Amino acid sequence: MDFQLSDEQQLIRETAREFCDKEIAPRVRENDRAGRFDRELARKLGEIGYLGAPVAEEYGGRALDYLSYALIVEQVGRADSSARTVVSVQTSLVCGSIERWGTEEQKKQWLPPLCSGDALGCFGLTEPDTGSDAASLRTRAERTDSGWVLSGQKMWISMGNVADVALIFAQSDPDQAHRGLACFLIPTESEGYSSQEIHGKLGLRSSDTAEISLDQVELPEEAMLGEIGDGFKVAMSALDSGRYSVAAGCVGICDGCVEASVEYAKERRQFGVPIARFQLVQELIADMIVRRDAARMLVYRAGDLKDRGEPNTVETSIAKLYATEAAVACADSAVQVHGGSGYVDDYPVERYLRDARVTTLYEGTSQIHKLIIGRDATGENAMTPLSAS
Ligand SMILES: Cc1cc2nc3c(=O)[nH]c(=O)nc-3n(C[C@H](O)[C@H](O)[C@H](O)COP(=O)(O)OP(=O)(O)OC[C@H]3O[C@@H](n4cnc5c(N)ncnc54)[C@H](O)[C@@H]3O)c2cc1C
Repeated sequence: MDFQLSDEQQLIRETAREFCDKEIAPRVRENDRAGRFDRELARKLGEIGYLGAPVAEEYGGRALDYLSYALIVEQVGRADSSARTVVSVQTSLVCGSIERWGTEEQKKQWLPPLCSGDALGCFGLTEPDTGSDAASLRTRAERTDSGWVLSGQKMWISMGNVADVALIFAQSDPDQAHRGLACFLIPTESEGYSSQEIHGKLGLRSSDTAEISLDQVELPEEAMLGEIGDGFKVAMSALDSGRYSVAAGCVGICDGCVEASVEYAKERRQFGVPIARFQLVQELIADMIVRRDAARMLVYRAGDLKDRGEPNTVETSIAKLYATEAAVACADSAVQVHGGSGYVDDYPVERYLRDARVTTLYEGTSQIHKLIIGRDATGENAMTPLSAS
């Protein structure tokens, strides 16, 4: 593996950093306080090409390699995890799935507006009763003469209230278990589609999160993404990219924690000297740096495998598990370095801590990722009580 970024990749990283400092950082605190989804910022992310960056140019993307995608996501994550959520969901979960599984018509219809930010998408897998055990989802897709009718509930769906199109996973034949799952592209203006905002989140306050109801939503045959029975594969391939994106965003959180802590430690004086001179403060900072660098290397390794078209599900799980836990640990330490000042939003570190916390929960909890890694190492599936017996 080559650890050297190409000139183009360095430029991509620098441009992303400048964009985030200029366009995202100044609005973060107010958006967070107001719990406001910033539609204008989502549009700007599209204009600069950060929504759907790896998508082919003919569909409105920038055809960037996966490592470059991570460099962008890292910078957006350093600035604001709520904005990073827009990039991750739109690019990895929605555009990536349509590009990989969609028909030519579906790609032409949805990818250009999604990549430009004119349209937003969401990814509806989780339900009130099915989270980690996604294959048991209950949303039902029933055949009609002209296509399908969908009914069910989706829970915790990022951008579900603001999306123009929803990727919805549904069961077409309960006897087939996960082989009966199918994925549908649903325009959110469809009759029977409704959503409700979920309030009171610990973090990601300016990210939109929704509960979605599907009440007899009628869809034509062409609304299906992939074939019947492909649903589980569509979801898993989307998550391979989504988890990578979350991990890259977490490297950005770690980096932001290091920067803020170093700066604060050099300025803040106690006992007549900058607190940076205290060994115990340096220990907090050193641990953050080690975690950040290790997380970054794991993300780059997964990206390198993706760019070479090699299997990377386990390496992506390792990167996601490590980077998300690292982000939580770094943010916690960064608050510690800031003392009482770290507990209010004059500094970014309390938001880093609140925003990082969800990353060990979504797109596979840390426990689920340990089970994926353990299964790969041992050949034993410890995911369900049945397979453990
Ligand atoms: C802010 C936010 C945004 C989200 N965005 C989306 C989105 O856009 N689209 C979407 O589809 N979903 C989304 N989610 C849902 C998210 O992916 C789920 O919350 C996650 O998969 C966990 O499911 P759950 O909450 O039902 O927890 P559960 O699956 O009920 O897990 C609860 C606990 O049990 C543990 N557990 C479960 N199974 C096992 C096992 N086999 N072995 C050991 N431990 C286990 C878990 O690790 C966890 O600690 C979002 C969630 C949040 C909070």
